[in-house]
Amino acid sequence: MGLQNRPEAGLNGRALLYPRGRVLGGCSSINGMLYLRGQAADYDHWRQLGCTGWGADDVWPLFKASEDYFDGASEHHGAGGEWRVEKQRLRWEILDDFARAAEAAGIPATDDFNTGNNEGVGYFKVNQRGGWRVSTAKAFLRPALKRPNLTVLTDRHVRRVTFEGRRATGVEILHQGRNETLTAREVILSAGAIGTPQILQLSGIGPGALLQRMGIEVLRDAAVGENLQDHLQIRGAWKISGGKTLNQMVKHWWGKGLIGLQYALTRSGPMSMAPSQLGAFAKSSPDVATPDLEYHVQPLSLEAFGENLHDFPAMTTSVCNLRPESRGHVRITAPDPLAHPEIAPNYLSTTSDQLVAARSIA
Ligand SMILES: Cc1cc2nc3c(=O)[nH]c(=O)nc-3n(C[C@H](O)[C@H](O)[C@H](O)COP(=O)(O)OP(=O)(O)OC[C@H]3O[C@@H](n4cnc5c(N)ncnc54)[C@H](O)[C@@H]3O)c2cc1C
Repeated sequence: MGLQNRPEAGLNGRALLYPRGRVLGGCSSINGMLYLRGQAADYDHWRQLGCTGWGADDVWPLFKASEDYFDGASEHHGAGGEWRVEKQRLRWEILDDFARAAEAAGIPATDDFNTGNNEGVGYFKVNQRGGWRVSTAKAFLRPALKRPNLTVLTDRHVRRVTFEGRRATGVEILHQGRNETLTAREVILSAGAIGTPQILQLSGIGPGALLQRMGIEVLRDAAVGENLQDHLQIRGAWKISGGKTLNQMVKHWWGKGLIGLQYALTRSGPMSMAPSQLGAFAKSSPDVATPDLEYHVQPLSLEAFGENLHDFPAMTTSVCNLRPESRGHVRITAPDPLAHPEIAPNYLSTTSDQLVAARSIA
């Protein structure tokens, strides 16, 4: 979907693309394929805040139960589950050099970011099988399709959840220009971080003043869509000399041909590449107990997503603050379910976030 942020004061008025996967599998069908759990201390913090069932000890067995780790079962990994996790099928000298430099700067080498302590530098593991993406639709939905009690309807846009009093009774959908209503004993809404608050607000559950402005009957005045937290990714592109990057490889037709051949013959090389290959988790200052910075390092560079790679050798190090303090919102802009909601992350709106951003690229 072609969503965008509201122009952001913290980004000098720029609006960024906000990609969403409008497809079976949602964003897992378009995302970076990186298999990354959160840090144990962050889950435990959620538990402290009152999210019972979200502590590290609670979620670890669930991660393991759904996992099919390439190296088999162990203390931190599961085997035989639906969610395939593999090593990447590539190595780049320039990324190995970056890892060595990170180690020299005090970031330890790691072979596994999913042990509860993410600190370190190493290659990410990916949700792939033999070099092909594994989305949640492939992993979880496809094997269940033969169940007699499951029907998947696509090309339907949910307008709102219907209610009898305070009980959800179904959904109103838009299908080929017509409104239809589906009734249900139970409704589970899982339309993602933007779609879910949007549908709830359209259904009358959200900030009362906003809904009244939109002419929507308020079923429940609630802060749905407030407290949006997003991790701004700051991309630094660096020209290099004396090393190989993807920029040079795709510059000529024969380079592209070789990449295609490598993929066709071995399902490896750049065409099997997740958007980010090497990662590093680090602390922005000695004041933090666990890493608050996540770096993605890529053997390529470009001006903006969707554009061609630069025609000079270069690499990209992008970094985000894992625990931003800035808070924003998602708010409907019209009672029309097809109208894009306002997405306002309020990036870099606190002094602490500005400091962490500056330290992350210093
Ligand atoms: C560019 C990008 C890269 C990412 N990279 C990674 C990564 O490498 N590793 C990782 O772990 N995570 C990554 N993520 C995050 C990860 O993909 C999401 O956390 C995850 O997909 C969220 O799942 P979800 O089911 O909550 O929502 P979504 O994946 O957003 O799914 C929501 C679904 O609801 C549907 N929907 C929404 N509104 C309506 C409506 N009104 N009517 C009908 N259907 C509707 C959507 O079409 C979609 O199918 C990335 C995300 C993005 C956008």
